[in-house]
This record gives sequence, structure tokens and C-alpha cells, in this order.
Amino acid sequence: MNPQDHQLIYQGKAKSVYETDDPEVVIVKFRDDITAGDGEKKDTLTDKGHFNSVISAKFFEVLEEAGIKTQYIELLELGVMLSHRLDMIPLEVITRNIAAGSLLRKFPFQERQEFDPPIIQMDYKSDEFHDPMVNDDIAVALGFVTREELDEIRKITLKINQVLKDFLLKKGITFPDFKIEFGRNHKGEIILGDEISPDSCRFWDSETCEVLDKDLFRKGETGVMDAYQEVASRILDIEDKKKWNIKDITN
Ligand code: UDP
Repeated sequence: MNPQDHQLIYQGKAKSVYETDDPEVVIVKFRDDITAGDGEKKDTLTDKGHFNSVISAKFFEVLEEAGIKTQYIELLELGVMLSHRLDMIPLEVITRNIAAGSLLRKFPFQERQEFDPPIIQMDYKSDEFHDPMVNDDIAVALGFVTREELDEIRKITLKINQVLKDFLLKKGITFPDFKIEFGRNHKGEIILGDEISPDSCRFWDSETCEVLDKDLFRKGETGVMDAYQEVASRILDIEDKKKWNIKDITN
């Protein structure tokens, strides 16, 4: 399967989207490119696309089993995901269970302060405007969503947080925060899209608080791919490894 044989529809900072013969189905190619700071810091890390595709596929499967609609259809091979075509909403929906990252730079929260209920924050996805935080009025006035859709996005997001937090806890991973994106399918339904991976989430080892996500890259530390590999090997079971033929990338 070579996505490049298909027509490119969209090229983001870490993924490319290609057409298929079915107008409602696309191929998402997870690339090895990694960026931070609105794309200012850039690198290519071997196998990152493989890890992120398989980690996202696993999370999408866990969420589908919990009744949440996602864009995921199947992982065709490492790095290549067949997905439902969505018209993406340019909002980054960030959920915070524990204070970290930009929240600490912007507000007087204490490091690792816990939030129960979690905080949901929405940012306008735009490198040009540096992803500014928006409120409901701004998101609606910009024509991105209706108020009813915002209510639905919040409801689905809280459920996603609960399902993934519980799943990760069993794998020895704390889930401080994560970013997701939604789109509309051809019926206008709100569907979870994009990815759920160490690029878009914070993952900490529950015992040691060791960082297992893109924060290592943001801070210029080594072992970024070792951390992604650790997440993959913890969340995938033997059946997943067999199904996706990934004995070569996990321990
Ligand atoms: N995040 C993301 N893309 C962005 C901004 C944030 O995926 O453009 C994720 C990030 O990985 C983290 C969460 O959203 O899991 C919260 O990020 P934060 O606002 O703390 O920003 P950061 O410290 O990552 O700049």
C-alpha cells in the first residue's frame, strides 16, 4: 500500500491525507516529522509515524468499544490508517486532569495540581495566530461551531477522558492532559478525528512520573522514540501486536 499513489488532499505538520476511490474514505499517513512551538522547532525521528499510528489505532479502538464515534476504520499497515473523511473543525480541544505545560506559564496554578472535574479548554488551531484560547462566543462568531455542537463536543470529550484515563491507569500511565480534534462526517455528525498519540498527549509513568511524550522533544532531551516505544509496548496486547505485525517495533 503506497499512499503516494493516491491524490494528496491535505498535508499537516505530521500527517498527510490522501483520497481513495470512496469519497467518504481517506488514507491518513503518519509521517516521522515532529514539530514544536508553532512549527518553529522541527526534526524527523525514525519510526515516529509507525508508533503514533499504532498508538492512535489502539486508542480509537478502545474508544469505539466504549461507544464513541471516531474517524478510524483500520490500520492498513504501520503508519497508514484508513479513516472516514471528515470536514475538520479548527479547534484544539484540550482536557486537563493535572496542571502542566502552558497552563502553568499562563495562570497561577500549582505544578501537578489536580482538576476534578477536569478542565476543558479550546484553542483556535492556527500557527499564524499562535493557537489562541477561545471562548464559546468567539468559536461561534467565527462560524466554526454552533452552541449545540459545543455542548456535544464537551460531552464526548469528557467521556473520552474518562475512558482513556481508566485504560491508561491499568497500564501504569498517568494522563495529565491531551488535545483532540473533531470534524463532521457527510451526515453532519460530530466525530473524533486527528490522532491520540504522544505528540498530542502528556503521558507520565504512574510510579516515577517519567515523561513518555513529546515534552522530551520540546525540552531538547534525548530518548524521545524510546518513550513513544514504551507507550506502545504498554498499551498494546499480544493480539494487537500480532494483528498489526509489530513485533519489530515493541519490546
Ligand atoms: N497540544 C497539542 N498541540 C498543540 C498544543 C497542545 O497536541 O498545538 C497538547 C499537548 O501535547 C498537551 C496538551 O495539548 O498534551 C496541552 O498542551 P499545553 O497547552 O500545555 O501546551 P504546551 O505546553 O504543550 O505548549
